[in-house]
Amino acid sequence: MSNKRIETKCLHSGYSPKNGEPRMLPIVQSTTFKYESSKEMGDLFDLKADGYFYSRLANPTNDAVAAKIADLEGGVAAILTSSGQAANFYAIFNIAGAGDHIVASSAIYGGTFNLISVTMKKMGIDATFIAPDSSYEEICAAIRPNTKAVFGEVLANPSLAILDIETFAKAAHDNGIPLIVDNTFPTPINCRPFEFGADIVTHSTSKYMDGHATVVGGVVVDSGNFEWSKYPEKFACIVDPDPSYHGISYTEQFGRGAYITKLTAQLMRDLGSIPSAMNAFLLNLGLETLHVRVERHCQNALKIAKYLESNEKITWVNYPGLESNKYYGLAKKYLPNGSSGVISFGVKGGREAATVFMDSLKLCTVATHVADAKTCLLHPASTTHRQLNDEQLIECGTTPDLIRLSVGIENADDIIEDIQQALNLI
Ligand SMILES: *Cc1c(COP(=O)(O)O)cnc(C)c1O
Repeated sequence: MSNKRIETKCLHSGYSPKNGEPRMLPIVQSTTFKYESSKEMGDLFDLKADGYFYSRLANPTNDAVAAKIADLEGGVAAILTSSGQAANFYAIFNIAGAGDHIVASSAIYGGTFNLISVTMKKMGIDATFIAPDSSYEEICAAIRPNTKAVFGEVLANPSLAILDIETFAKAAHDNGIPLIVDNTFPTPINCRPFEFGADIVTHSTSKYMDGHATVVGGVVVDSGNFEWSKYPEKFACIVDPDPSYHGISYTEQFGRGAYITKLTAQLMRDLGSIPSAMNAFLLNLGLETLHVRVERHCQNALKIAKYLESNEKITWVNYPGLESNKYYGLAKKYLPNGSSGVISFGVKGGREAATVFMDSLKLCTVATHVADAKTCLLHPASTTHRQLNDEQLIECGTTPDLIRLSVGIENADDIIEDIQQALNLI
């Protein structure tokens, strides 16, 4: 489908039924696959032949959905994971181990920040966090001889900072390492990071890709562009023969498919965070309408951001599509069709006023989720961060009055009316 436009790919990539086959992607609910001889099965184990033998490593439903996402991003290969957390862990752990180091933007999802700063640190992988607005020189200065990757979020959750992908990619490449970016919020509809030099893309598919808050999932996509074998010492793990796979070299045997093959053959084999075929099927249903939903999320969010900006009970609005926004310039460059449905704003009157506002909403629901079809909001100071005082809140990048609004695909005027009636009660 690589010659088709992205809207068409959302519907048709990854699965092309032949004559008389099911129109919808079949759910292959089977752990195992049958073979006539041990030799045939043996060749699959040795990665000498293509095929399925056990769903922990590969399953036809999952593969079709991964192929669709790879096509949407313009990559060569992808693999689904059971969550976005697993996707980011695998993407980094595939090329970094004990004694290594990574450089990461500090403006990233809280779960990913903990993964990198706590759990991966326990595994012996050190990290340096740098500001998302770091210059080329500042990024280069954070890179060490044992640094294996640079990591960031294209549109950060929840700060909505936009990563200057080209600058981060150049700094990474000039130091012989890949740039890994989490593209969850923009989705490939609004940004395809490979076009700007990123090497690996990850997603929490639990957000817009599924889009209906039904399945937790993730995906790792490879552009196939990073030349691992140019740095055989730094990336010996992917270039050198793998003793756990009969001495094959992933780069020699799989070329541009080396990274995803290694991730599947080693990490999925040993750690096994795969989604069920049923969940992959549900994700595929979401992907079929991704282009339609993302466009509407962005239209609604821009309209609501402008309404909030002009309301006297609102102190500030953070939405990259607003001309007043710090990231408006980067948004025009990397996200010309819109950023996402997520907005944050402050209500006059701080913590108390925000609580009254939240409790008065009727249509918009209070939920910790973001990026699904129904509008939802979260006031961190009275929920996820309620144990923190005002100073502590500011220290961890939020404020007592901050409300995170995930705009859904309802009629924007109904959302605005609900917000207005709640603001009237403050
Ligand atoms: C939600 C999220 C994750 C984690 O994904 P899960 O599917 O919840 O495990 C990672 N990155 C970003 C940007 C997210 O929004």
